[in-house]
Amino acid sequence: MRIFGGILIVSLWAIPACSGSSPSMPAGGGTPPSAQTPVRVLMLTATRGFRHDSIGAAREVMSAMAASSGTFTVTATEDVSSITATTLGGYDVIFFALTTGELEFTPVQRTAILNFVSSGKGFLGVHSATDTLYEWSDYGRLVGAYFKEHPWTQPATVIVEDGSNPSTAGLGDRFSINEEFYTFRENPRPRVHVLLRLDAQSVGASGDYPLAWTQSFGSGRSYYNALGHFSETWRDARFQRQLAGAIQWAAGR
Ligand SMILES: [Zn+2]
Repeated sequence: MRIFGGILIVSLWAIPACSGSSPSMPAGGGTPPSAQTPVRVLMLTATRGFRHDSIGAAREVMSAMAASSGTFTVTATEDVSSITATTLGGYDVIFFALTTGELEFTPVQRTAILNFVSSGKGFLGVHSATDTLYEWSDYGRLVGAYFKEHPWTQPATVIVEDGSNPSTAGLGDRFSINEEFYTFRENPRPRVHVLLRLDAQSVGASGDYPLAWTQSFGSGRSYYNALGHFSETWRDARFQRQLAGAIQWAAGR
């Protein structure tokens, strides 16, 4: 194995994500979509409010998915101060996973996050990402809604409204899952494209309760999924497929 200066660095970065079953790159010519370079995901699990027990499982699952799929790499951090324009320059998607509360982003950091997504990159939010940064309205616009309450923690049916997004492929028309189901201060439906909603009848209720959605944000893309309260959800292959698809979609692949 011959290693030259710059190539050594690239190779070392690629090794953790590509170990195992990664596809080999073609020798030349066009790169088919399946052999594109892995999407680089920066996963933030910082909390300033409630801290979910499932954060550990979330980090483990994302790391394992990255290693087994070879389609993305993930760097998990708890360090809010590490989110800067410079560090974001090394990523394709920023992922707020189970974050809560008023994370201490400076105005410069806030601008960097908004510019990152609006310039053509991707945002992912999961579960309490909507229970985060209530005092930063642009973040609310980015994630799509703010958490209101969780009236139902029980098995329920989730309706797939749009199965054509990569994140909902293979889910069928509906599925059942044990979760903590969120409602939001305002129904985001007028502003976002809803992928999943709660089957209200399955919890003995009525009304419209979107649970996952997408939206464009400038030239970039934003995806949110309200599931993810329990570690079991993160270990559920159906949830994992949603996240893997969402990463590809958010990265514009
Ligand atoms: Zn929760």
